[in-house]
Amino acid sequence: MVKSAPDSIRFVLVNSAHPGNIGGAARALKNMGLKQLYLVAPREFPAANAIWRAAGAADLLDTAVVVETLEEAVADCGLVVATSARERRIPWPMLTPRECGARAVAEAVVHPVAVVFGREDRGLTNEELQLCNFHVHIPSNPDYSSLNLAAAVQVLAYEVRMAALEKEQGGQLSYAEWDRPPAKSSDMELYFDHLQRALTELGFIDPDNPRQTMARLRRLFSRVRPDDMELGILRGMLTAIQNHIHRSGGRGRPGGDAVDG
Ligand code: SAH
Repeated sequence: MVKSAPDSIRFVLVNSAHPGNIGGAARALKNMGLKQLYLVAPREFPAANAIWRAAGAADLLDTAVVVETLEEAVADCGLVVATSARERRIPWPMLTPRECGARAVAEAVVHPVAVVFGREDRGLTNEELQLCNFHVHIPSNPDYSSLNLAAAVQVLAYEVRMAALEKEQGGQLSYAEWDRPPAKSSDMELYFDHLQRALTELGFIDPDNPRQTMARLRRLFSRVRPDDMELGILRGMLTAIQNHIHRSGGRGRPGGDAVDG
């Protein structure tokens, strides 16, 4: 069955400190016709202040899904977008809030979509940002760029609503059908673990300092967004490489053939 935007677009709040913001986010979502609130390790929830700020949207707090990690919150998603109040060290594929709304609505018919929000005091970690296919920045005043968490949720939820209304009214949006679904977030994580292991066994990654290489490879695959079949081929290739290394009795060397040891 084809799912509609409200049923398959979730807004994920990571480690929120203030229950008032959780309530404000619930209200913003319900105002814009969205239903799914995911909370990753909220610091205080359930909370009276959340219910108070949610006003008539307390039902979204009752149905909110609480999990321990961002990985769990987005595991079944085919599109994951992170919101960020500032530029990061490694630039990542970016969407405007408008493009984010359009893409979320277009893709929601084929797989669950997540829009992810960070902590009030320090946003999302680099590891969390790297779990996401795209980053979106609300083009705020560069001298004072950080919106209140619930206000940022409101802006993105509004863009999702505008895109959904445009689609209902026969707008131009369409998701280019592909013969295979894009790989799920949890399968991408298994792939990155496998890739890191294989590249380490090969001697290509230094286990004492693997971070930058993996971050860049993550960014590459985020741009490409392999489908499930392509990911299966990539994992099969890694296994073949590992089998070759193990058969030849040891590790590879950067840029060289596998050698003993
Ligand atoms: N001091 C933090 C600000 C966090 S604001 C930092 O520098 O990252 C809390 C959350 O609101 C952010 O993690 C992000 O999810 C959202 N947010 C705030 N301002 C935003 C903006 N201009 N664009 C996109 N998201 C924003």
